[in-house]
Amino acid sequence: MNNPYPFSNTNKRYYTYDYYLKQKYGSKVFKVAIDGGFTCPNRDGKVSIGGCHFCSSLGSGEFGGNRKDSLFKQFDQVRDMLHRKWPIAKYIVYFQSFSNTYAPVSYLKSVYEPLLSKENVVGLSIATRPDCFNEEIYEYLSELAQKTDLTIELGLQTIHDDIASSFNRGYNFSTFLETFNRLKELKINTLVHLINGLVNESKEMMLENARVVGKLKPWGIKFHSLYVIKNTMYAKLYEKEPFKIMEQDEYIDLVVRQLELLPKDCVIERLTGDPSKEDLIAPTWALKKVAVLNGIDKKMARENTYQGRLFNE
Ligand code: SF4
Repeated sequence: MNNPYPFSNTNKRYYTYDYYLKQKYGSKVFKVAIDGGFTCPNRDGKVSIGGCHFCSSLGSGEFGGNRKDSLFKQFDQVRDMLHRKWPIAKYIVYFQSFSNTYAPVSYLKSVYEPLLSKENVVGLSIATRPDCFNEEIYEYLSELAQKTDLTIELGLQTIHDDIASSFNRGYNFSTFLETFNRLKELKINTLVHLINGLVNESKEMMLENARVVGKLKPWGIKFHSLYVIKNTMYAKLYEKEPFKIMEQDEYIDLVVRQLELLPKDCVIERLTGDPSKEDLIAPTWALKKVAVLNGIDKKMARENTYQGRLFNE
């Protein structure tokens, strides 16, 4: 009988990023978040000034380095800390905060490339918006993908444009599709970021997000639940009139249903978020990352289900 979950050698019934990295590099690999000094067109006025309603003034990069420090200093600080516990680890440089392709190619080169020559750096992961690309950038990224293990992380959050407008995303699903398809054509690994529990998005709509994105066959997917953090537009709205936030069990059930809809070979980089305790307003269960992940594993085992069980081409 075919192995129903071929991309796992643990109790996980989905294709974890950890498994992918261990198979590929044979050792522990860490992503090191670096602040490359970027901004975002949804904050600097090109598209809007408010930003997405869930985004903090740090551009959703709460755990990144300090942009006042050099790239090397930011990297070395994290690497040195990790090195004490994992002396033979490898590293992926991760540009997470703001929109990390929103600059001329000359600037992109000046921040992406210096750290690639550091010992044990094996790749580069770049988070951005789908409306921050042009032909010159595609061409450069295509060259870069020949030099390092490159992943582009596209923040989509939802395929539903009405929900996206309600949190001020500032681009349509068609823009995402155009960029996604272009990156696919260039054979650049693309990871899609979805948020569950967006205000007014129903369970059926969230399942549709997974179904539609799954059919696009991205290299990877990342999910987390909507959490309200301080100094965001959602924090203001929530304070004025609390809106519905998903419960932990509801979230676990939803994620299991979404995993069933994805292709088996889609890498699952994350299934729950990592908000900072000091900044989190709701839900407090978002801090219990291990409990959420265990809940997903247990539910999948109990129901004897797995990633890709309901995936249709
Ligand atoms: S696109 Fe990203 S950085 Fe820009 S406002 Fe939205 S979440 Fe923040």
